[in-house]
Amino acid sequence: MVKKLFIFAFCFLFLTSFAFAAKEEKTEPRNVILFIADGTGPTIMHLLIQYAKLAPKSPFQDRQSTLEKLINEGKLSLVHNDTAFSIVSDSAAAATQFATGHKTQPEALGVDKDLNPVSSVLIEAKEKGKATGVLTDTYVLDATPAGFFGHVESRKDYTTLSKNLLEVKPDIVMGGGFNHFVSKANIESGDLENILKKVPYAAEIEPKNKDDKTFETLLKSGYALVFDEKGLNKAKANKIFGLFAAEGYPFNIDGLKTAPSLPVMTKKAVEVLSKNKQGFFLMVEAGEVDWAAHTNDAATTLREMLEAEETLAYLKTWVDNHPNTLLIITADHDTGGFGFNYQKISKEEKENKMDKGYIQGKYDYITLDNLDKLLEQKASFYILEKEFKALPKEKQTPQNALKIINDNLNLNLTLKQIDLEEDQTDFSFNKAIKKASENLGIVWNTKKHTSSPLLIIFYGAQVKAPNFMHNTQIAQIIRNYFNEEQ
Ligand SMILES: [Zn+2]
Repeated sequence: MVKKLFIFAFCFLFLTSFAFAAKEEKTEPRNVILFIADGTGPTIMHLLIQYAKLAPKSPFQDRQSTLEKLINEGKLSLVHNDTAFSIVSDSAAAATQFATGHKTQPEALGVDKDLNPVSSVLIEAKEKGKATGVLTDTYVLDATPAGFFGHVESRKDYTTLSKNLLEVKPDIVMGGGFNHFVSKANIESGDLENILKKVPYAAEIEPKNKDDKTFETLLKSGYALVFDEKGLNKAKANKIFGLFAAEGYPFNIDGLKTAPSLPVMTKKAVEVLSKNKQGFFLMVEAGEVDWAAHTNDAATTLREMLEAEETLAYLKTWVDNHPNTLLIITADHDTGGFGFNYQKISKEEKENKMDKGYIQGKYDYITLDNLDKLLEQKASFYILEKEFKALPKEKQTPQNALKIINDNLNLNLTLKQIDLEEDQTDFSFNKAIKKASENLGIVWNTKKHTSSPLLIIFYGAQVKAPNFMHNTQIAQIIRNYFNEEQ
């Protein structure tokens, strides 16, 4: 009898605790983290996956990037990004389309195709009482973040965008772009002297806001205002506004100076936003993949992807521990049309490679060590071109161009291999360095955006999504997920 009672009591306890657990599960708030890798078409995502998997010196222990794990463990679809009037998209139209669910015109933000303002998933999440945030390694008024809070016909209308941002007031705003919040008069009056003492990049500021009152509004908006990684780490507030560079960040390959990296910002944002009992919406942008791809610089692009990877590794673990979270990873458009291509091989190179046992026929199909070679590049093409152009005119010779290229890309090329002649006076350094990278089998179709379809990965919470979708449907999936909340 005692035994029976004990079993009964045990079952009762078990059932009630189960009921409580189920109830708790139901009331748990829902979170959405949208990770946008700007300009990152499928071949750039694949560059990271191939580097992890195939590079002889790959630092990935199981040769699998988090990006590949997310694809395998989550749901993968393809995305169209055509706008209301065009086959090719820019960041503004794409951001508007996935933030609001409306098709629009290129270069417009937060408006439909007829330029009427439309609401975004961030604004709606805020109306539901959720915490919200946007962060980027470009500038905070750049097109991708601005698609979530701005309403302008032109993405360059920074004065209106700064007002829009300070009206919406997401709890977390982080990135570069101090320039867009101060006017010339603000700086010249000396009123900001005390604040500028705390700004490590103060010497680089070039004011771009046309309204002298914007900065004062920002100061009164209830944010902890921080300007470097140290300040961010110390910030205890639930509302943080981080301006970590005058414009965008430097490329990772060139060193971030005092700015926090994308994973550091993301971790802080998630820690702060997840304190809200109603849940949160966060948009994270790896924005400089696009900038690197615009310069057709594969090594710099890969380094930006490795930073994105570190951020995704953090987010995957966080989502695994917080089941009511939907993590979406996608791109706004492809930049550059990147790839590797096989190429004709000289007799001499062929013999050299055949000695190592892996070349047949008359082509070089690009051996795996070319992936390691990318990580040997010491600075971005952007910085190397600046270095060359800073030389006195008489020293801007083909020989010096070759030396900068060989030293910094760790290559051993001849003038002929970068399409230069000994006495050439009028040439483009940029073309020469691009030619150098072609020796690694690298090919880019363009320095602009392409119409390539994009990848999208849904991870964490289960959602229904078509296998091939339009980017306007992303907004609808986020809305549905939030609306189903009990
Ligand atoms: Zn973009």
